Amino acid sequence: MEKGDKRGILGELGVKIDTLKCTGCGACTLVCPVEVLEVIDMKARVKKGCINCGKCIEVCGWMAITLEKDKKKK
Ligand code: SF4
Ligand code: SF4
Repeated sequence: MEKGDKRGILGELGVKIDTLKCTGCGACTLVCPVEVLEVIDMKARVKKGCINCGKCIEVCGWMAITLEKDKKKK
């Protein structure tokens, strides 16, 4: 069995931060295993490289983070 999915989705899937809901608490930045989250001006931002583990979504008590599916940036 092969499982190469995680690498294949880099850059294509990711999480989206709702800046209206985000309080800048920083909880999500602490749990991200690949450290792609950062808080700037009290709003979380996601950089490239998210592996869609979902941890930040779980910890955000304000439900400001959602999974972004099939978004292709051009
Ligand atoms: S856990 Fe939620 S509210 Fe806190 S900084 Fe991250 S996105 Fe914003
Ligand atoms: S889903 Fe996982 S890898 Fe992506 S930003 Fe959230 S904690 Fe980081």
